[in-house]
Amino acid sequence: MSSSKIPCTLVWLRQDLRLIDNPALFHAAKRGQLITVYIFDEDCSGKRRTGQACLWWLYHSLKSLRNQLSQWNIPLIVKSGKDAFTILKELLDSYNADAIYWNRCYEPFEYNRDCSIEEKLKMENVTVETYQDRVLFEPWTIKTAKGGPVQIYVHFWNQCLSLPQPRKPYDKPKFKNQTGCQSKCDEPAVWQRLAKLSQDMPMKLQDFWHPGEEQAISKLKSFIKNSLNAYAEKSQCLRLNTTSNLSPYLHFGEISPFTVWHSVRHASSSAEPPAVKSESLKQYLRSLGWREYTCHLLFHYPDLPQKCFRSSFEQLKLQVDPVKLQSWQQGNTGYPVVDAGMRQLSVAGIMPNRLRMIVASFLIKHLLVPWQKGEEWFWSKLIDADLAQNAFNWQWAAGSGPNACPYFRVFNPITQGEKFDADGYYVRKWIPELAALPNAYIHKPWEAPSTVLKKANIVLGKTYPRPIVQHKAARELALATFGQTKRKQEPPTSNSNKRVKEE
Ligand SMILES: Cc1cc2nc3c(=O)[nH]c(=O)nc-3n(C[C@H](O)[C@H](O)[C@H](O)COP(=O)(O)OP(=O)(O)OC[C@H]3O[C@@H](n4cnc5c(N)ncnc54)[C@H](O)[C@@H]3O)c2cc1C
Repeated sequence: MSSSKIPCTLVWLRQDLRLIDNPALFHAAKRGQLITVYIFDEDCSGKRRTGQACLWWLYHSLKSLRNQLSQWNIPLIVKSGKDAFTILKELLDSYNADAIYWNRCYEPFEYNRDCSIEEKLKMENVTVETYQDRVLFEPWTIKTAKGGPVQIYVHFWNQCLSLPQPRKPYDKPKFKNQTGCQSKCDEPAVWQRLAKLSQDMPMKLQDFWHPGEEQAISKLKSFIKNSLNAYAEKSQCLRLNTTSNLSPYLHFGEISPFTVWHSVRHASSSAEPPAVKSESLKQYLRSLGWREYTCHLLFHYPDLPQKCFRSSFEQLKLQVDPVKLQSWQQGNTGYPVVDAGMRQLSVAGIMPNRLRMIVASFLIKHLLVPWQKGEEWFWSKLIDADLAQNAFNWQWAAGSGPNACPYFRVFNPITQGEKFDADGYYVRKWIPELAALPNAYIHKPWEAPSTVLKKANIVLGKTYPRPIVQHKAARELALATFGQTKRKQEPPTSNSNKRVKEE
C-alpha cells in the first residue's frame, strides 16, 4: 500500500529525543527523505513500564521534538504496541522506505529485541544501520584480561580513559525538504493516552522542569559557566545548582554524553576565564563514568534491577513493614534530612545524589526494608529514573551490588544533615513547618528544649513526627542483620548474553 513514490529512510527514535549529535538522524538526513517513529511499547513482557514521572517527561519531550521536526515537514509518528517489528515493517511499506536507522540501546530487553528485529528486517532486504549513541564506551568494549565484564569501577574507568577519546559530536542534520513525506498514520489516540497519563500525575513537575533539547543545552551551558569549576568541592552540597541537573536530559537522550563530554573538556581547556579546576573536570567526567559503568553492568547482569548481585544478601529475607515504608515514602520519618529529600522527590521528581544515598541507606539499614522497595518507589517518582543507574545505586546502598558500599556503612541521618546542609537551607525549603528552628536543632528537633519548639511553633508528634526509629538502636540492629552476609559473598557469573557484540 505505497502512496509515496520517493524512497525514504525510517528513523526509529528511542532514548535519543534530539537533533544535535543524533547519528541515526544525521546519516538518514544525508541519504534523503526521512520519517521518524517513536513506539510507546508499555505492555511488553520483560520490559519495565515507564514510571509515572517519566511518562510526564516523555510526553513533553516528544511534543518538543515533534515541533522541531515539523519545521522540516518531518513527521514524528507515535505508535503504541508490543510488536515493534510489525509496526516498523508496516511503516516501511506504507512510506515506501527501504532503510531504517536507529541508535543502539543497551538495556537487555531493548538490546535483544533490536538484534532480533535487525536480523528479520535484513532478511526482508531492508537496509538497517545502527549507531553508538547512548554511551561513550559500549558495554562489550571494556573487559577484564579474561574477556569478562569489569566489576570494579576504578578498573572500569581507568580502562575507559586509556582508550581513544570518545568521538566528536555530530552537527545538527541538514534535512532535505520533505514534501512527499507527510504523516499519514499518526495516531492521535496514542498522543491522547500519553497526554492523559502525564496529566493524571499528582506531582508538580511543570514548576521545576522543562523537557526538551533546547533546555538541555541551556542547562549544560549554565552549568559550565556557573558550577563546573567548583564541582569537586560542592557537588555534594544539598543545593541543586551545584551539579549539572542533566540526568533526565541524558536519560531521554535530549542531550548526548558525547556533547556533554566534549563541552566540559573544551571549557576547561579554553583560554578564556573562568578556567576550570582540573580536579573538578576529572570528577565531573568520573560522574559520567558512573553512568557508563551502570549501563555496562546492566548489560552483562540483566537481573540487576531485581536480584541481589551477591547471593548472600538474597538470604537475608527482610520483611517489609508497610507503616515504616509509608513513613519513608511520604517523608514522615522524623529525621529532617531524610524527610526533606523524600518530599522533594514527591513534588519535584528529583533529589541530589548525596541525599539519594542518605535516604536509601535509611530505608535499607534503619528500617530494614529490602532495597527493591526503594528502587520501585524511586522508579515511579524520579524524572531521571533509569533502569541501570537506579538499580546499581540501590544495590550499592544495600551493599549487595558490585563495587558496593560495605554492609557496615550506615549513614547517620543527623550528622549527614549537619555536614551537607549545615545551615539547614535544604530542610527549611522542603519542610517549612521546621523553618523557624535554630540551626543547632534543625537536624534533630527532638533535642530542642520545649521553649525553642514552642517559639518555632512545633509540636512534635503533631506538626512534625518524632523519629520512627532511634538511630543508635537501628544502627546496631542493621549491623547484626547485615553482618550475616559476611560469611559468604559470592558474585554472580555474568549474563550468558549470546548477542554480545564482538569488536
Ligand atoms: C539510590 C540512588 C538511586 C539513583 N537513581 C538514579 C536514576 O534512576 N537515574 C539517574 O540518572 N541517576 C540515579 N542516581 C545517581 C545520581 O544520584 C544522579 O545521576 C544525579 O543525582 C543526577 O544529578 P546531576 O545530573 O546533577 O548529576 P551530576 O553530578 O551533574 O553528574 C552528571 C551525570 O553523571 C551521572 N551520574 C552522576 N552520579 C551518578 C551515579 N552515582 N550513578 C550513575 N550515574 C551518575 C548522571 O547521568 C548525571 O546526570 C541514583 C543514585 C542513588 C544513590
